[in-house]
Amino acid sequence: SYPDVDKASKPRFVRINTILISVSDAIDSFRDEGWKLVHQKDAKDYDGFLENISNLVEDQFMVDIHIPELLIFPPNTEFHAHQAYKDGLILLQDKASCLPAHILKAEPGSIVLDMCAAPGMKTSHLAAKLNNNGKVYAVDLDTKRLKTLEDLMQKIGVTCVETINKDILQINNIHCKDVEYILVDPSCSGSGIVGRLDLLEPAVKDVKRIQKLRGFQIMILKHALRRFPNAKKVVYSTCSIYPEENEEVIQEVITQIKNYKLVDASSVLKGPWINFGSDKYGDIGKFCLYSKPEKDMCNGFFIAVFERLKDGEENKY
Ligand code: SAM
Repeated sequence: SYPDVDKASKPRFVRINTILISVSDAIDSFRDEGWKLVHQKDAKDYDGFLENISNLVEDQFMVDIHIPELLIFPPNTEFHAHQAYKDGLILLQDKASCLPAHILKAEPGSIVLDMCAAPGMKTSHLAAKLNNNGKVYAVDLDTKRLKTLEDLMQKIGVTCVETINKDILQINNIHCKDVEYILVDPSCSGSGIVGRLDLLEPAVKDVKRIQKLRGFQIMILKHALRRFPNAKKVVYSTCSIYPEENEEVIQEVITQIKNYKLVDASSVLKGPWINFGSDKYGDIGKFCLYSKPEKDMCNGFFIAVFERLKDGEENKY
């Protein structure tokens, strides 16, 4: 068995910026510094993997079983002063936040739209998945946050990103041509973020705010599915654990969309996955994936994946 995580016990996740350094070179340089790599023998044994993470001692690290460019260090390992961090070779990004770009799986050379992009952690991961080859349109309404994104891209050697400082609802295929993959990562309650789980208490769950967020989430997801005729795959993600912002958003949208189907969000993952949506929502629950701090040792997160229907296929909702 392994413990529930809180801020103090959550492992330190380090994403290798594969634009500047290969996974094997990054691992070698950590080993050269004295870090010891703990191997996960059985990649199908998720409980064993979690147990190994929780047993990491001071000088040990592991490679994640789902995201090959993600390393796992003991909680609170300090990297801000590390040269590799300063040089943009590594990013400090929670595992949950690495899932959307990994699951979107855009191939190098393709055109991606990141609808709510700033401050750019997922944009940088999308660019890395493209090998910096192709294009990521990074849209955000907030000028200051978008500037942070631009600074980050420069620091970490990303050159395939074009930023657009506009309301995403005003953006369509004319502004962002030939988009093939879309990430929808809208503003949410943040209730999944470890250290903010107190939000789960009914006294602090702000129902009015959640309803407002949910309205925006539905609107932007419909926009993604309707306004980009060349898009073939759309990933919706939130760092919320409230069904109102997750399964209920998907349920409302999928019943109003004709040309997409919902697919199993975990099918891209090589390792085993255990947390899905609630049974209450039938197939929607089965296909949507959650990460849960109390199980997966990372932030709470939700992901749904839509794929454009092929000729003869039907949306059964
Ligand atoms: N994907 C980001 C990352 O990984 O770093 C985090 C995105 S954050 C959850 C949501 C973002 O949506 C905020 O930066 C916010 O400014 C932006 N946003 C909110 N409303 C928007 C709109 N109408 N159009 C474009 N961006 C919007």
